[in-house]
Amino acid sequence: MAKRIFITGIWHETNTFAATQTGLEDFHAYQYAEGDDLFAAFADTNTEIGGAMNAAIELDLNLVPGLFAGAVPSGMIKAEAFKALLERTLELLADAGEIDGVLIHLHGAAVVEGVPEADAVFLANIRQKLNPGTPLVVTFDLHANLSDDLVAVADALVGYDTYPHNDMGARGGEAAQILHRMLWSTKRPAKILRKLPFAPPPQVQGTDAAPVAEIMAKMHDMETWGGIWSASIAWGFPYSDVAHLGVGVLVQGDDHAHVTRVADDLALTIWHQRGEFDAGLVDVEDAVRSAMSAPKGPIILVDVADNAGGGAPADGTTILAELLDQDATNAVVVIQDPDAVRNAKALGLDGMFSGNVGGKSDDLHGPPVPLVGSIIFQEHVRYQRRGDYMTGQQIDLGEVAGIQAGGVTVMLTEAQAMPFDADHLAAAGIAAELQQIIVVKSAIAWQAHFQEFAKGEIYVDTPGVCASNLTRFEYKNLDRAIYPIDEDGVWPPK
Ligand SMILES: [Zn+2]
Repeated sequence: MAKRIFITGIWHETNTFAATQTGLEDFHAYQYAEGDDLFAAFADTNTEIGGAMNAAIELDLNLVPGLFAGAVPSGMIKAEAFKALLERTLELLADAGEIDGVLIHLHGAAVVEGVPEADAVFLANIRQKLNPGTPLVVTFDLHANLSDDLVAVADALVGYDTYPHNDMGARGGEAAQILHRMLWSTKRPAKILRKLPFAPPPQVQGTDAAPVAEIMAKMHDMETWGGIWSASIAWGFPYSDVAHLGVGVLVQGDDHAHVTRVADDLALTIWHQRGEFDAGLVDVEDAVRSAMSAPKGPIILVDVADNAGGGAPADGTTILAELLDQDATNAVVVIQDPDAVRNAKALGLDGMFSGNVGGKSDDLHGPPVPLVGSIIFQEHVRYQRRGDYMTGQQIDLGEVAGIQAGGVTVMLTEAQAMPFDADHLAAAGIAAELQQIIVVKSAIAWQAHFQEFAKGEIYVDTPGVCASNLTRFEYKNLDRAIYPIDEDGVWPPK
């Protein structure tokens, strides 16, 4: 008879510097499904659950649905939200009956009020309810801040190998394969986690570029060695101010001593190259000037600090203000501002908009900017992601208003979304490839959609909760020196 596998998960990348808190409603607004709806929501998607579903068919596993709750990366998760999700998960587990194995999809950088290691606590609560020996396999995001507690509770863990993330389905499948391997055996892999005192900003964690690409290639080579089950590098999310912040190297395999050597080798390789993780930021005035004078567009101005995919509000105005100041032409910026959208809606299509936009969520991303222009677009925008990043995901931008202010097109959105893709612009009638300047509020994820036609990119030194310059932040919970927040850390530990 097919083995019964309980599949569940919570996913949140918590930016503890963000001004907002994340409540239960934020999970329901972004991704929430339980029971059979879970399969309906994720079938044929490039997600961990979609990948696990495909693998389950091949491996003849009977998946039993728990829930999956994901919220857009944002501020600290409210204690009551975490409690509710955990309790509901445990209820579904209790209702699931006899279970032979468990697959859990986590982020690895979730922080709850009073619970700095939320992922580990979630996992430990599930483990407690299982019969001894029940295999439990976890997937985690490349931005996880892995901790010893998290690794200890799982039998095996599989992390994304790509950033921009496009291997979620493959990793979900890999997790199911590893689980399958443990279902008829008491053998569990030896696991070694090496935590480095190193926290590079996401902007320099791209897996297609130096120095990470070569390190990942080395890791993939090691994964083919005999006795190694799986290796992952969690590059960390530096905007979670937690003691377990930092890069984690995780290697799993048959033999403890062998796994230890492989993990130490990889960890040392990364440590020796830490100086090469350079964000190369450009001052906003120079960035706009060079983008305007570039012979061919589009030039991508990357507003990393206002990365909506990392917990920033996506209403930062620093680059918009500079574009207006320098009378840029053929430039487009997306700004989340429900107030301004409402005002535009009242005026109607072709009306003349005049008002402050952006900079309203907090005082960390530039002040509201006065904007005058004609209303060229007005609609409720929903679309499905087509690129290989989170393919198939349904995006709802809410009401959207396009304002033409001289040569600058400002796309105002009601909902906060992650404006990574050209579909986002196309949905509002903007042809991305015809622009001279496109502002993206993203660290790396934009590359999956824009790099094929972009003629250049400039990472702009803007203020905000996802700034690549980590010395802008005041960390309170680190218990050791971490490079580059501090001058240097120590590795290996004495
Ligand atoms: Zn990530």
